[in-house]
Amino acid sequence: MAVITNVVYLIASVLFILGLKKLGSPKTARQGNIYSMVGMLLAIVITLLDREIIDFTYIIAGLLIGSVIGAIAAKKVEMTQMPQMVALFNGFGGIASTFVAYAEFVNTKHMVGGTDVVVSLVLSLLIGSVTFTGSMIAFMKLQGWMTGRPIVFKGQVAFNGLLLVATVVLGWMFGMDTINGQTFLLAIIAIAAVLGVTSVIPIGGADMPVVISLLNSYSGLAAAATGFVLSNNVLIISGALVGASGIILTQIMCVAMNRSLANVLFAAVGTDSGGGASGGGEQRNVTRYTADDAAMIFENSESVIIVPGYGLAVAQAQHVMNELMQLLEKRGIKVRFAIHPVAGRMPGHMNVLLAEANVSYDKLVEMEAINDDFQSTDVALVVGANDVINPAARYKKDSPLYGMPILNVDQAERVMIIKRSLAAGFAGEDNELFYDDNTMMLFGDAKKMLTDIVKILKEE
Ligand code: NDP
Repeated sequence: MAVITNVVYLIASVLFILGLKKLGSPKTARQGNIYSMVGMLLAIVITLLDREIIDFTYIIAGLLIGSVIGAIAAKKVEMTQMPQMVALFNGFGGIASTFVAYAEFVNTKHMVGGTDVVVSLVLSLLIGSVTFTGSMIAFMKLQGWMTGRPIVFKGQVAFNGLLLVATVVLGWMFGMDTINGQTFLLAIIAIAAVLGVTSVIPIGGADMPVVISLLNSYSGLAAAATGFVLSNNVLIISGALVGASGIILTQIMCVAMNRSLANVLFAAVGTDSGGGASGGGEQRNVTRYTADDAAMIFENSESVIIVPGYGLAVAQAQHVMNELMQLLEKRGIKVRFAIHPVAGRMPGHMNVLLAEANVSYDKLVEMEAINDDFQSTDVALVVGANDVINPAARYKKDSPLYGMPILNVDQAERVMIIKRSLAAGFAGEDNELFYDDNTMMLFGDAKKMLTDIVKILKEE
């Protein structure tokens, strides 16, 4: 049986790897999901068959409750709430690893002896618990249940360092006497829970994408450590895959934001910035333009770059956006989309959103490839984007956005911005671009405004 189990685990692992590979492109992503789902199903079924399970009651109850909650959550969640859901998933993954590793210890206390098992157990409890509370804080920040701004206190980095050292010391003490060391393990879980909170509260503003992918990676590492505790190969492999892919995504996000990981984790940039949703900007003069004005400008343009952002997803305006693009192209206007790596609320959010409206992939151009083209473009049409075009990122040192590369929309001949108000974006930083002479503010819901423009262009 052990041989069959390991062969099935191997097949499952191959499916996970192929699944991950296919997730690399939007065209094959669905297939990638299916590969991974089949892999996970195989792994679960063979594990259930393999163990000497006396009573399935709790397993079936857990499966049913979990499946119902998962299915309802997946159906109900809006695309714009995905990061919160991912944060919850990461957190639950972390705490599940902690529980399983701890339960294994309780069951097999007398057998815990080898350094490898001791280290794996301690790591599993530590990382799993940090991941749980850290993810809950990330969830609350993203959901708006607590401030998105960095929360810092004096000596925070030293305090976190101390907590980490304490867990290592406790782990060592546990290793000295594993049979009576239960209290040390519980203390590790508790201290790690505090560490999760204190290491995520200082991360704020635009840096949330980095922390979400980092916590994702942690949840994988916790699972892999638990895999070593249980000597379960598929858990080790799948955990390592999540850990590695999470770290790669974290690195990609750091590069996109022009940050080092240490900078995100320890710098707490933007703590004192005076920005805010209703910032002081509203006293300044802004001219209100209409859909008619926009249509007239388009009539006289040859090139347009569209910058989609979170507001496009909120308004669910992707279909009418596609319609506008086609109308403009019919008039011989060159139209492309500029995709900022952190636009929206999850990696690849804009790609997924526009793919849903059947915008062809070759129209979507990454930031580095298109940023120099704004200067030779007639209109930069910004739809529900804010932070990713905020010039404060270039010069305002105390801004949460400082240092993040932005789309150079201000270099276009004209900038049209569709949003409902002068409110700040996710990072809470006012945007001076709204007050520029060559900026046209089109106030309103993105779907309504784009529908109005489309209507006018169709009538002309
Ligand atoms: P922002 O959140 O900066 O701005 C979105 C703008 O959309 C708001 O200012 C809002 O203005 C406008 N808006 C909201 N609803 C509508 C609507 N119905 N119609 C028209 N406009 C609307 O978005 P960006 O995409 O520019 O930047 C993304 C931000 O999110 C970055 O700071 C990024 O770091 C962060 N983030 C990204 C993640 C990722 O993985 N991509 C994950 C987590 C955070 P108004 O209210 O005036 O309409």
